[in-house]
Amino acid sequence: MEAPQEKDQLVPSANNPNSNSNPNENAESDPLLAPQDRGSSRSLVRDAVEEAILRSLNGSRSILTISMLFIFARILTSILILALCDTDTDTPLKTFIIVLIAIDICNIFINGSKHYMYTNPASDGFKRAIGGFSTLLALFYFAWQITGNVWFYSCDDCWDDAVELTTLSLIYIIFGYLHFCWPVLFCCCLCLCIPVLILGLAVFGRGSQTPATKEMLEKLVAEEYDPSKHTGDRTCAICSEEFQISDKVCALPCDGRHIFHENCIKNWLKVNAICPLCRMPLVPENS
Ligand SMILES: [Zn+2]
Ligand SMILES: [Zn+2]
Repeated sequence: MEAPQEKDQLVPSANNPNSNSNPNENAESDPLLAPQDRGSSRSLVRDAVEEAILRSLNGSRSILTISMLFIFARILTSILILALCDTDTDTPLKTFIIVLIAIDICNIFINGSKHYMYTNPASDGFKRAIGGFSTLLALFYFAWQITGNVWFYSCDDCWDDAVELTTLSLIYIIFGYLHFCWPVLFCCCLCLCIPVLILGLAVFGRGSQTPATKEMLEKLVAEEYDPSKHTGDRTCAICSEEFQISDKVCALPCDGRHIFHENCIKNWLKVNAICPLCRMPLVPENS
């Protein structure tokens, strides 16, 4: 079986030949370690984090299957339309589509390889090759989309010459916009949602708080603090200051021992008519 050997390759024996323990543990803490060893340790940590994230993202078979099916359907439809369309256009829209089909096929290969990588042990070289190829393909796709846009918008007679081919090109161009603009669209949606969320929280958050009425506040009797009588809390839970003899304090009806400075509790109750300590409503809810 090859699997155990391949797994061993993940340990960077070339950078750390004498160590048979975990290199991550020593590299970050040991200031005497060579910079290249620290670098390899960081890249290992980064690789591990990347792998964990991508494993969770790419590990989902259903997402992979759906995206593969979508790409397959796109390729088949494109081939069918290309086969049926025998007229040429002023700008090479056919070439635009054919290259995009090739990019789709490469994407299937990359997706399959990535899925294989995160479900089976793979060598660092293979991972790097797939990562590099994926980046190159993304850059080429970007450049090719720009080229396709120029060809599409500069062709005046394309809709008359080959309507199916031109429609297909338009669909690919829209896919391109979505592919490159979705982070911006996502951010815009998020920015639009945040004020709504804040407003909702403010409305519903306030809804759960009932301020005390004037009569309720007037019913609260203030008295001078007396340690022999007020045997409970020695500090006001609202301002965190210790009660001093002759401070004006109010005891809430929840529990005679829950006392607060008169000013502190009245300001609190004007916002929310519950005891700050035990959260019991000042007045029973059914009254
Ligand atoms: Zn206070
Ligand atoms: Zn209380």
